[in-house]
Amino acid sequence: MKKKLFAFALCTGAYAALFAYSVYSDQKAVTSEMTDVSRLMPVKIKQTVKGQEEETLIDTVKEANRKNIKISIAGAQHSMGGHTYYEDGIVLDMTGYNKILSLDQEKKTIRVQSGATWNDIQKYVNPYGLAVKVMQSQNIFTIGGSLSANAHGRDIRYGSLIDTVKSFRLLKADGTIVTVTPKDDLFTAVIGGYGLFGVILDVTLELTDDELYAMQTEKMNYSAYAGYFTKHVKGNPNVRMHLARISTAKKGFLKDMYVTNYVLADHQEQLPSYNDLKEDEYTGATKFALGLSRRYEWGRNWLWNTQESYFVGQNGTEISRNNVMRSESKFLEYENNDNTDVLQEYFVPVKEYASYIDDLRQTLSGEDLNLLNITIRYVQKNEKADLSYAKDDMFSLVLLINEGFSKEDQADTARIIRRMTDVAIKHGGSYYLPYMTYQTKAQMRQAYPKSDEFFQKKRIYDPDERFMNYFYQRYK
Ligand SMILES: Cc1cc2nc3c(=O)[nH]c(=O)nc-3n(C[C@H](O)[C@H](O)[C@H](O)COP(=O)(O)OP(=O)(O)OC[C@H]3O[C@@H](n4cnc5c(N)ncnc54)[C@H](O)[C@@H]3O)c2cc1C
Repeated sequence: MKKKLFAFALCTGAYAALFAYSVYSDQKAVTSEMTDVSRLMPVKIKQTVKGQEEETLIDTVKEANRKNIKISIAGAQHSMGGHTYYEDGIVLDMTGYNKILSLDQEKKTIRVQSGATWNDIQKYVNPYGLAVKVMQSQNIFTIGGSLSANAHGRDIRYGSLIDTVKSFRLLKADGTIVTVTPKDDLFTAVIGGYGLFGVILDVTLELTDDELYAMQTEKMNYSAYAGYFTKHVKGNPNVRMHLARISTAKKGFLKDMYVTNYVLADHQEQLPSYNDLKEDEYTGATKFALGLSRRYEWGRNWLWNTQESYFVGQNGTEISRNNVMRSESKFLEYENNDNTDVLQEYFVPVKEYASYIDDLRQTLSGEDLNLLNITIRYVQKNEKADLSYAKDDMFSLVLLINEGFSKEDQADTARIIRRMTDVAIKHGGSYYLPYMTYQTKAQMRQAYPKSDEFFQKKRIYDPDERFMNYFYQRYK
């Protein structure tokens, strides 16, 4: 009998140990190398912790305090400068912390865990005729990552994401949780604060109505754009969303443009015929065309002409707001052992646009930069976030650049990016922070006049630098 009991106890113990180990290893995957979507800065980290439960997150912060280990926070890891990891540190992977907690149809608000993506929200709110107010052009990003960058997108009325956040809960460096609202000091530091003040747990966001839009695209010269935008886009309350492109092909380089407006359709009752959520289309063809333009001048000319004709050909096409905000992203996924695609983004006051473009063209004339695409959007003045990029009503120019992995290629790209940053700053502009941190400390401070205040807050709220990443290391 004793033997049987002993065997039973042994088996149960072994099973319990195996079970505990499988749960533990599920939550704490030991990873040796970590990088982000740029693939430019791989480093060895201690471990990745999957933050699926609030308890796990709290325990991880407390344990890191005891053992003096740095913590970085990762969403979809589409930032590009080591913002989500740090050597020998713990990476909190928030992507499994992604529940939709509640929807208030009357107030048009939603409460979600921070690892949820915009896609998760869109799928949830679309059947209720609701839509997101402000988000990036693509829907693949997490809410925590988007808040931490203070994202902006195609909508021209609501400004930056910070304007649509009602509150969030934050797990701080000391392991306690606070609710943060717009009147709190931490609100303006955490939004646009790149994960340096704690873990954003859940967020309450404002929503708006889904709407039916008609697409309108026209071609124009860069010199006419600012005037056109002020009169026909900002000046027309029916234009809800807007984007533009300026040519990076040899023909019409930084001169030819086409602009697309999403105009409120006059028969909103037909929205239900258009509101099935779309998935990426034409991914293979777009990837192929982008591949050609990485390698060949004729490829870039061809891509520009094809894109332009495609958008002009869409004139009058009707599309729901939710579908405009589900723009293609898979075609941007790019794997190559020698080179990678990176983004840079410059903000320039609307009134400065034409002279800025002239300066940029002049700056790039003697440079060998593999510049694949420039998309332009509008961001209205918004200085709420401590690291606010929109000191004025701005056009934001997103540059897609192909860059080699070799040290020489990286150094050269960094040099050109610093030159381009100077051009933006000279015209009263700034640059966006979630990308490779090629800009100097002096450029960062010029573009972000409140950065000293921001870093001072970091020292107050997280004196031991528990939350750490390469963005902070570079600019603190
Ligand atoms: C192809 C592409 C297109 C883009 N388009 C746009 C665009 O249209 N508009 C725009 O504004 N930006 C755009 N971006 C930039 C993008 O908004 C930011 O990089 C954003 O942070 C990405 O979200 P993520 O989930 O990948 O965040 P991650 O890269 O995972 O994290 C970004 C930052 O947020 C922090 N963080 C993540 N989750 C949390 C959390 N729960 N709590 C606290 N901190 C957290 C991280 O520590 C990190 O510092 C684009 C980027 C790419 C690569």
